[in-house]
Amino acid sequence: MGHQDLGVELKRIFPPERVLTSELERRMYSYDSSFMARFHSFVPDAVVLPRSTQEVSALMKLASQRRIPVIPRGAGSGETCGCLAVRGGIVVDLSAWDAIEEVDVANMQVFARPGVVHYKLNEHLAGFGLFFPPDPGSTRMCTVGGMVANNSSGLRAVKYGTTEQYVLGLEVVLPDGQVIQTGGSNNCRALKNVSGLNLTKLFVGSEGVLGIITRIRLRVWPRPKARGMAMAVFSELEQAPAAVLDVYQSGILPSGIEILDTSAIQAINMYKPEINLPSAEAILIFEVDGNPAGVAWEGQQIAEIVGRRAVSVEWATDPARMADLWRGRSVVAVAAARLRPDGSRIFAGEDISVPLSRVTEALRRIKELSRKHDVAVVNYGHIGDGNIHTAPVINLDSSAEVQRANALVDDIHRLAIAMGGSTTGEHGVGAVRNQYTMDEHGEAALVMKQLKETLDPLNIMNPGKLLPPEGGKDRA
Ligand SMILES: Cc1cc2nc3c(=O)[nH]c(=O)nc-3n(C[C@H](O)[C@H](O)[C@H](O)COP(=O)(O)OP(=O)(O)OC[C@H]3O[C@@H](n4cnc5c(N)ncnc54)[C@H](O)[C@@H]3O)c2cc1C
Repeated sequence: MGHQDLGVELKRIFPPERVLTSELERRMYSYDSSFMARFHSFVPDAVVLPRSTQEVSALMKLASQRRIPVIPRGAGSGETCGCLAVRGGIVVDLSAWDAIEEVDVANMQVFARPGVVHYKLNEHLAGFGLFFPPDPGSTRMCTVGGMVANNSSGLRAVKYGTTEQYVLGLEVVLPDGQVIQTGGSNNCRALKNVSGLNLTKLFVGSEGVLGIITRIRLRVWPRPKARGMAMAVFSELEQAPAAVLDVYQSGILPSGIEILDTSAIQAINMYKPEINLPSAEAILIFEVDGNPAGVAWEGQQIAEIVGRRAVSVEWATDPARMADLWRGRSVVAVAAARLRPDGSRIFAGEDISVPLSRVTEALRRIKELSRKHDVAVVNYGHIGDGNIHTAPVINLDSSAEVQRANALVDDIHRLAIAMGGSTTGEHGVGAVRNQYTMDEHGEAALVMKQLKETLDPLNIMNPGKLLPPEGGKDRA
């Protein structure tokens, strides 16, 4: 079916201004934030912008009849080509369907449509003294629908966990157009519910391959009243994870524990010399939150415990000083590109996770791989839960460097699996990591495939993502 014919059919479901079929409009949906998207042209056949569950359901019925792939999209901030039409089809842009329908303070939950941007949700909740704790770095862009679909999290996952811990229920449109509620019936407001199979968890992190999430019931928490931050400098990398363990063993669970290794310290100092981080093998930044007295006590304890291994440690609760301590960490993603004048930081192999006990080994081995492939990398990340961000820095105009970077990234993913970790602690699988799904999950990957075939026998729901590709590597 041509674009125009498809457009005519779609305009029977959607008002004309919410069906995009021109070349220019479709091209605008051919990329996300991934490295891979730069080298492919995944232009969809059409784009629609729904505003109701009925529209999404009617779309899925049409797509089933015509066997056309359908690809849900939030803000397109994903790093894995997850929201791209790698096999053509209709992109469903949910970003403008962004109503926060209700904050139910008495029941500590919020109801939202998928397009609500994360920071806007938290701004709104702040008015009620509440917050939704997962905190991706993309907070100003990403949608809660995208967060649920990717099971997103951020630097406070060490204390607050990932999105899945907060999803109480979902409205989902299945590939055949059927609409279901998970986590209880339409009027369920229970916080605890163990009846039935946990379909909510099945859809959280399913990356749009099982259905389209059209309404979200999220648990919210009271906002902490105080925060404090400590920065510790280590002359030996090994001492940093050891200090993290010491803090845990003292009975303290910080709300964030971040690491910068030598490469990150160097990049930050090149990018913003005024930050002037001390040269060291590692810097740790701890954050604690809660009530003021508890924060003060935990901060002192952390400073004392970590001080036994660190060259220096500074504790701060003054907002201006905390912002200073945080500056290095907040610019590192951008600073990475400054390692060389012609460099660009790429998002690939960028978020493996490894067992806590093997973080030092992982960081050292990533450096060896960087030397082996002659690709500079900057390492930082959420050391508190073993989630390492590696930023390869290359000249994008050099095909030889692009090739070497791809080889490096493949080695990093394989290293994570070999170390008993995961190829992705945050950003998901999409079309860039599905070739590792079998290696990472073994027989369980085949059960994932069976679930997909049961819910989506025609394979129209975001095909080519997350699940192991037929016969090895997928097209993307
Ligand atoms: C600078 C930067 C920093 C980042 N930091 C973090 C971080 O700290 N932690 C983290 O976890 N991620 C991070 N990310 C990755 C990304 O922002 C998150 O995965 C985010 O949750 C994606 O949301 P989105 O709305 O952009 O989704 P998209 O990129 O549009 O889509 C992501 C996936 O979700 C599916 N999807 C989207 N909406 C729906 C829906 N309603 N129903 C079904 N499927 C849907 C898509 O098909 C796709 O597979 C970062 C990205 C950038 C660019």
